[in-house]
Formats: sequence, C-alpha cells, structure tokens
Amino acid sequence: DRAMGIFTSGGDAQGMNPAVRAIVRMGIYLGCTVYFIHEGYQGLVDGGHSIRQATWASVSGISEDGGTIIGSARCKDFRERPGRLRAAKNLIEHGINNIVCIGGDGSLTGANLFREEWSSLLKELVETNQVKQEDAETYSYLNIVGLVGSIDNDFCGTDMTIGADSALHRIMEAIDCIATTATSHQRCFILEVMGRHCGYLALVTALGSDADWVFMPEAPPEPGWEDQLCNKLKNTRETGQRLNIIVLAEGAIDCEHRPIKSDDVRELISKRLKYDTRITILGHVQRGGCPSAFDRLLGTRMGAEAVLALMEATPTSKPVVIALSGNQTVRVPLMRCVEKTLAVAQAMQAKRFKEAQELRGRSF
Ligand code: ATP
Repeated sequence: DRAMGIFTSGGDAQGMNPAVRAIVRMGIYLGCTVYFIHEGYQGLVDGGHSIRQATWASVSGISEDGGTIIGSARCKDFRERPGRLRAAKNLIEHGINNIVCIGGDGSLTGANLFREEWSSLLKELVETNQVKQEDAETYSYLNIVGLVGSIDNDFCGTDMTIGADSALHRIMEAIDCIATTATSHQRCFILEVMGRHCGYLALVTALGSDADWVFMPEAPPEPGWEDQLCNKLKNTRETGQRLNIIVLAEGAIDCEHRPIKSDDVRELISKRLKYDTRITILGHVQRGGCPSAFDRLLGTRMGAEAVLALMEATPTSKPVVIALSGNQTVRVPLMRCVEKTLAVAQAMQAKRFKEAQELRGRSF
C-alpha cells in the first residue's frame, strides 16, 4: 500500500530505461503504487500532469531504448527552497514519500538536501494551510534511494555507473571505423571523447584500441610532453605502423591546469611531424543508441535492489545509493559517495593529481 515516485535527472544515459522498468515492475510486484515523475526535478516542482501513475504495461519493451522514456532535465527551481516546497506539496498530494532518483552527483546531492529539509518543508506547508496536519503526520519522513546514471563513470562508490559501458561500446566502434581509414591514408587521428572531470572513457578506450597516447584530466602530462608525444609517434611510424590514434578526454588539462585542446594537438603534430592529422569529436553519439547488455542488466539489477532498499527503509535510515561492487549490487551511503566524488574534483582543482587518481581508483 505504499506509493513511490521515480525520476531521471541530469544528463541521460543508456540503461536508465531498464532501471525504470525494473523499479516499476518490482514496485507493483510488491504491492506499491508507482508514479513516474516526468522531466526530473522540474516535474516534481510542476506537479499536475508531470506526475502520472505507472502500470506494468507502461514499461513494456523499453529496455532496448536508449535515453529515458520519462524525460530528464536540469531544474533551477529545485535549487531554491520555494521550488522544493512546491515539490514536497506535490508529493504529499499524491501520497508519495518514497522516491528513487536516477541521476548524477548533482541530482543525488539535491535529493539528499530535499530529504534533510523534509520536516521543515512539511511544517511550512502546514502553517500556510497547503497541507493538512494529518497528512504531514502520515508522511512525516521521506525515503530516498539513488541510482547513478552517467556515461562518464565519474561517481565514487560504485565500480560502474549506468550508461558507461554503452558509451565505451560507442567509442570503440568509432575508433575501429577510424582506424581502417587512418591506416589506408597513413593518418593520425585525435579522437575527442566525453569526460569533463573524469578520464575513464578516454583511458579504457585508449587501452582497448591500442592507442598511442591518451590525455585525461586526472593524469596531466609532464612538462615537455610535446616532445615526448612527437617522439613516440615518430618511433611507431618508423617501426612500420601506418596510423596513429590519440584519445583525448574533453576535460584534458596540463599540469598547470591549462586545457589541452584537440586543435592544439593537431597543430603540434602537423607542424612538427607533417603528418596528415584529423580530429573526430564524438559528442552526443556517445550517449545515444541502445544500452549494452551490461547496462541493461546493471539497470535492471540496480532498479530491483532500489525498491527492496526503499521497502526496508525506516524513519531513521540514511539515504543510500545502489552500487556495483565486484559483481554484487550493494547499498552504500549516499552522502559519503557524493562527498568523495566532490573530494576528487577539489583535489584536481588544487593540482593534487595523485590524490585525485587514488580517490578515483577506488571507484573504478
Ligand atoms: P550529470 O552527471 O549528467 O551532470 P547531475 O545529476 O550531476 O548529472 P546536475 O545538473 O548537477 O546533473 O543536477 C541535476 C539537477 O539536480 C539540477 O538541475 C538541480 O535541479 C538538481 N540539483 C543539483 N545540485 C543541487 C543542489 N545542490 N541542491 C538542489 N538541487 C540540486
């Protein structure tokens, strides 16, 4: 007889739909009324048609679809208390005090704040006659479970985030395609991949594609890298290699925090080595297409576990994130993971790159 709401927030990721499907079906199986909250926090703030009951059939055949069928958005209103007050009122109106948030670290930080404020939001809603005292007592606490949907694999606490594996597949396919044409024409290709703060996609695809060089934010190259890079490329050509692949994360920086841009690397190679050097920026292709088998299964397992965690939550339970540890789905404290993820960003900002790598390393 419990009601639960689910929403997807922040950037979309392949594998969100299998998670939505598993949450809806596990929820219904356990006797809950499940609601879709459309367009992330915006739907929570707007209420009305944005909050709609899910049925068993409404999630039929969605596992193979990329993106998220319930929409995702970034929402300014939810960052301010008046927006969160409207969100709380909308939840109470639907009798919902269990929510699953599927999003990145920003979305999960917002969810945690919402939960912490819940009592004071209810108090204000009662005082301003927007919610009845008895309803405030019935829904006196808010249970939250988070799932991390992010192609970047940038969240500490889980081995993999939903969407990262599919993005790896997209990138590897692209590199394979580029490699054939690069070989024919003896070209050098710079492939720019997503990852503003996290080099996971760049590192893994560079390893998997036998790339010559990788630029990633957590491991800026040593001063003098320009000479090292050119020497390396020259040596490989001299041993008979007909192509060069360089993978560059969009957030790549040097030791002084200056961005390393694809254009600069191309200019360096073209000028010094006179190689025909091209840039391919994959962009949103990496977020698109069907989820991989791994992401379908990950979303499904995490979604089912999220519902179990919600059902077992008590008024004093701390919010959790469903994470992958080895091959197990586990529950980890939401705020500790968010704090650790922020600590990585701070370490990088302060040029403590070793520390950032170590903190990140534990999440991979
Ligand atoms: P991605 O990894 O794709 O960027 P994300 O969840 O980190 O995903 P954000 O844009 O940071 O994306 O956050 C998504 C939404 O979550 C924001 O638009 C906002 O509505 C809410 N949010 C983020 N941070 C906070 C916060 N500190 N307080 C309240 N709400 C927040």
